[in-house]
Amino acid sequence: MDMRDYDLIVVGAGFYGLTIAERAANELGRKVCVLERRTHIGGNSYSEKDPETGIEFHTYGSHLFHTNSEEIWDYLHKFTTFTSYRHRVVTVHQGKAYPMPIGLATICSFFGRYMSPTEARALIESQVAAEDFKTPANLEEKAISLIGRPLYDAFIKGYTKKQWQTDPKELPAGIITRLPVRFTFEDGYFSDKYEGLPTDGYTAIFERMIDSPLIDVKMGVDFFEIRKQIPAGKLIVYTGPLDRYFDYKAGALGWRTLDFEKEVVPVDDHQGTSVLNYADESVPYTRVHEFKHLHPERKYHPGKSVIYREYSRFASRSDEPYYPINTANDLKTLEAYKAMAEMEPNFITGGRLGSYKYLDMHQAIGAALKTFRGQIVPFFGRSQGEAA
Ligand code: FAD
Ligand code: UDP
Repeated sequence: MDMRDYDLIVVGAGFYGLTIAERAANELGRKVCVLERRTHIGGNSYSEKDPETGIEFHTYGSHLFHTNSEEIWDYLHKFTTFTSYRHRVVTVHQGKAYPMPIGLATICSFFGRYMSPTEARALIESQVAAEDFKTPANLEEKAISLIGRPLYDAFIKGYTKKQWQTDPKELPAGIITRLPVRFTFEDGYFSDKYEGLPTDGYTAIFERMIDSPLIDVKMGVDFFEIRKQIPAGKLIVYTGPLDRYFDYKAGALGWRTLDFEKEVVPVDDHQGTSVLNYADESVPYTRVHEFKHLHPERKYHPGKSVIYREYSRFASRSDEPYYPINTANDLKTLEAYKAMAEMEPNFITGGRLGSYKYLDMHQAIGAALKTFRGQIVPFFGRSQGEAA
């Protein structure tokens, strides 16, 4: 593997890295080497076929595609069409099932009577007024300011404690604003303009993105093991953990990881929906995924289904980092790493791990397109100019 042959080295074959690689090859005609530590492309958005049932499952947990951006939606349509799947989640609290996110159906079921939107708003407002904080400063206060304490206690507190094992008072408010709160019977999990699942699965997207003679993907290769072979001055786009790149010099950034317990169950339909959340702390897992429900348009063999039980815990250095925790201390550490990254010549760090941001797929793609236009195009424009 001679690194001198390449114009650009991309570390990580997730959505961020492959968007950069695809654009650099197809728009700029640049030769790209993608290094991927795992034995597959796609990063955490990878999906595969279960050998026993033929059911496509998302190896790192259900991945639902949604975006408000026409640019990102159009970009992905170069590589895939989308099904009309709309994600809906049900949550179980004390043995009863409720729609999630919290909307009028959840509120009416929980309080045991029909309420109009105005009545429901008035009830929540009266509950919020009873609280003593003025401006919500953390996840708990933000959630209570949106839904009041009884709904918070039932649907958010236990789940968030299991998911983050951090006091909700110490978590950033932004985590909870991922979930809409509605005073209508609309029950979709997302409110975005565009939503769907890739018709042929996620992995087909990644295969098409790298389908260029200008892109070489080296799988099972850790950047840190071959780093010395990369000539000085080569442009590197790095999408691995930011603290790892700098050898944890400014300390470790906090991450959570997940454990998935996979089971092939001998029934057609295990839970009636693709994702069932468990709100109560007494249930050790946060949610159960049943993948065949993600593609109701497919004909899978009857009699079996693939499920995942999802457990969350703190990540040690040897675990896969999935969720940046973003405590105040983490944010300070992040600033130190950002300053180091700026000083590093011909180096761009991005993606969920490389920017230490809770990015969804569309956000990772959007950030990569922005970096491509703002940094990669000018870089090669400049180096071409210099060479001329
Ligand atoms: P990643 O996909 O993490 O890719 C980074 C790649 O870099 C990995 O393949 C890694 O192996 C590789 N790498 C790291 N270090 C090295 C190294 N030293 N050498 C070589 N390779 C290296 N988003 C949604 O939009 N909808 C969802 O429903 C959704 N659900 C999610 C559920 C879970 C459990 C998780 C964890 C994430 C979810 N996401 C979802 C987010 C989605 O996974 C990310 O937005 C997306 O994967 C980000 O792409 P990326 O390229 O930044 O990072
Ligand atoms: N959340 C919750 N109860 C739920 C679902 C979500 O309390 O039933 C909270 C929890 O803190 C979670 C956050 O909302 O971390 C964001 O949820 P989302 O489903 O967007 O998380 P992800 O799919 O990224 O794990």
